[in-house]
Amino acid sequence: MAKTKQFKAESKRLLDMMINSIYTHKEIFLREIISNASDAMDKLYFKSLTDSSVGMNRSDFFIKIDVDKDNKIITVSDNGIGMTKDELDSNLGTIANSGSLSFKSDDNNTAEDVDIIGQFGVGFYSAFMVAKKVQVLTKAFGSEQAYLWESEGVDGYTIEEAEKDGVGTEVKIFLKDDTDDEEYSEFLMQWKIKSLIKKYSDYIHYPIKMDMEHDHLKEGTGVDDVPAEYETTVETETLNSMTPIWRKNKNELTDEDYNKFYKEKYYDYSDPLCHIHVKTEGTATYDALLYVPANAPMDFYSKNFKKGLQLYSSGVLIMDKCEDLIPDHFCFVRGLVDSQDLSLNISREMLQHDRQLKLIAKSLEKTIKNELKKMLNNDREKYEQLWKNFGMQIKFGVYNGYGANKDLLKDLLLFYSSNEKKLVTLDEYVERMKEDQKYIYYAAGETVDKVDSLPQTEVVKDKGYEILYLTESVDEFALKVLGEYNEKQFKSVSDADLDLDSPEEKEEFKKLSEESKDMLEEVAKALDGKVKSAKLSERLKSHPVCITNEGEISLEMEKTFAAMPNDQDVKAQKVLEINPKHEIFGVLKDLYANDKAKLADYSKILYTEALLIEGMPIENPLEFSNLVCSLMVDKK
Ligand code: ADP
Repeated sequence: MAKTKQFKAESKRLLDMMINSIYTHKEIFLREIISNASDAMDKLYFKSLTDSSVGMNRSDFFIKIDVDKDNKIITVSDNGIGMTKDELDSNLGTIANSGSLSFKSDDNNTAEDVDIIGQFGVGFYSAFMVAKKVQVLTKAFGSEQAYLWESEGVDGYTIEEAEKDGVGTEVKIFLKDDTDDEEYSEFLMQWKIKSLIKKYSDYIHYPIKMDMEHDHLKEGTGVDDVPAEYETTVETETLNSMTPIWRKNKNELTDEDYNKFYKEKYYDYSDPLCHIHVKTEGTATYDALLYVPANAPMDFYSKNFKKGLQLYSSGVLIMDKCEDLIPDHFCFVRGLVDSQDLSLNISREMLQHDRQLKLIAKSLEKTIKNELKKMLNNDREKYEQLWKNFGMQIKFGVYNGYGANKDLLKDLLLFYSSNEKKLVTLDEYVERMKEDQKYIYYAAGETVDKVDSLPQTEVVKDKGYEILYLTESVDEFALKVLGEYNEKQFKSVSDADLDLDSPEEKEEFKKLSEESKDMLEEVAKALDGKVKSAKLSERLKSHPVCITNEGEISLEMEKTFAAMPNDQDVKAQKVLEINPKHEIFGVLKDLYANDKAKLADYSKILYTEALLIEGMPIENPLEFSNLVCSLMVDKK
């Protein structure tokens, strides 16, 4: 009987965590064992390049998975370099050289730590999340003697001499018994193993083979009168696809290849809008394959949605959603990054601060921006589809972080144009601006139709100036953050100072305003603080009144604030504008001279009308209704 050895203290603690792991991703154990096997084969393969005594070709290497359902054992075999007795002792008795060191030195093993186990694995030890016993039978290259390492967990391990045919390693995992919460025996199912390999180890560059059972209709049965009989045949299959598509050269691949990969990997029925295949070497060496989906995923606008790219280290998946790789404004991009510069065992905290990862993220952001710009220029229809699904994200990107990303994103924006009757870029708008036009005009409202009929747009349209119609609440915030585009400032058609008229017109208007000053004050007084002032309008043509705002908060922004859950009481400084060219102006002047009480009533009616046109809630519907009725009765 071999003497039981103790694990090194720190390994013991980790092992303890593994055994008692409450982590739900116990399934990663298979990935870890397979990745070790792959490494061992790499080592022997490299040796074979300089040492002819190895006597093996690249194609001779493979991993084999065997399942013993009766005894609940999974065996993973490789014909890699194997381990000597000393190596067994030091490699599987301690984990001193592993990236997991950083978290095992922390005594407070919180849920977060446990999560790290799942995300990054701690190699061989993860087998104890599912195993009550692990055996490693191994024969090192160049050695005649094989050894069997065995452990049931924290109590230690034994190593004894054993028999083994070829060089390599066989890891036997004796699964724990099923409990109410955990069905370990699921890992014995061939579909389960197949799906785990597809998920985590598809791009291991050696074949992973397994004998797969298939049920068939026995030949000659199930036809005519012969009752159906089934038989089971066994075929050895390779479960992984080995060469990842992103490692291939772009010129070997067709759009169809890219789309097929996307649809299989992300369970999408539609082809993506575009793919971006990046292969770089230099400061950051990585391959990336990114996609813009044609439709937003079901959960995109829910809080369950998580952005992120898959992160591979030399073909082995180390993280399913690496958030740090993709900025929020491009969160709709799906795909993966594979870099040989990242270690398989890196912990999440370390990853966050990883310089390499930051470099990759920065360069990806630029690449995505350029690709989207290209699509915008060359395939507007596609880009508009993207915009419909994800434009909001890009607009939020402009607005978020006090505009930190506005320069990156401003060229990607689209807004509906009053002249073109379609979505246009800011660049296109500025290109078309008239010689005397100082500003980029915009108008905000709920829908294009509603904005189009806003009284405030009349004069600007009359000048032949284009207006951008903003129909989403984030739009105006985004433009405010932008401030200008190509040195042209943005101006709302509701802005107090539209600055449109000629000097003569301005002079005349000033005079008229002066004359009507007292009357306008009376109107404002009747509105009892609801407006900051009443004034004559330069912007109205056919409509009697409108509401505009002074200051930074617009009416649309007030609506947005009002809709927020914590009811932010932010109000625009409203101004009631009265059209001096409209008949009503004469009526008001008349009332001011003869019937101040009626002037007050009319002021309230006009103010409410203006609110209604603007799509704002009216403050006192009953009063409005009564006032209009009394007017009708009066007329009779
Ligand atoms: P890591 O793979 O991060 O080094 P592990 O705990 O998974 O950590 O493995 C420890 C060591 O054990 C490996 O570095 C390797 O030297 C050795 N080892 C594990 N599995 C095998 C195998 N199948 N063949 C040869 N050596 C192995």
